[in-house]
Amino acid sequence: MGESIHFSAWQEDDPAPEICPLCQEASPIFKYQVVPALGADTAQDLQGYCCLRCGQQLLATLEAVTLARWAAQSPGLRPKKTPE
Ligand SMILES: [Zn+2]
Repeated sequence: MGESIHFSAWQEDDPAPEICPLCQEASPIFKYQVVPALGADTAQDLQGYCCLRCGQQLLATLEAVTLARWAAQSPGLRPKKTPE
């Protein structure tokens, strides 16, 4: 299985910070956890709290990593929107 990102909704008993630690701007809405791929070199779990925008950034990062891997391993399977 590849990397995954899990989001869960903030709950009242969570010790969430008052400000998003990633952007230092917004209030954190979600608790997130980034789980590395099985067998990955960097077996490091990242987790914390983030706001909606940072959560979208995390997803965009996962997308970029995935697209890069597709491009490297399976040139024929690139998404159609990728310019040649
Ligand atoms: Zn943020």
